[in-house]
Amino acid sequence: MTAVTDGLDMAAIGLLLRQRHAETTGQVGRLQAQAASMRGSHYAGSGDAADAGTVALEAAEQTMVTMALQEQLVRLQAAIDRLDSGTLGACGRCGEQVPLTRLQVMPWATHCVPCQSIVDRHR
Ligand SMILES: [Zn+2]
Repeated sequence: MTAVTDGLDMAAIGLLLRQRHAETTGQVGRLQAQAASMRGSHYAGSGDAADAGTVALEAAEQTMVTMALQEQLVRLQAAIDRLDSGTLGACGRCGEQVPLTRLQVMPWATHCVPCQSIVDRHR
């Protein structure tokens, strides 16, 4: 096993982060456009109460999905910032290198696995 701070692997993770960020930005944009058109058709339409209920439910679900995606965007952006400043992969609690295998699955991870479970428990 070679050093965990392999430049190439970090570059790959950076690529992954930027790709995810672009995808998520696109998803949020599409959802917001959909929500806007749904609101428009709801107020303009003469649908019955059941339809209005369905629309409201769908809109609520979409809002939740959009919010989750926006949170994810913030995490991705923060990870990109850490990557740019060279601190990506350092655990925010113990300062140890977060294993690359973990970063490859969760590039926005801010803690190594043992510290993450401690942080989660104290939340
Ligand atoms: Zn740690």
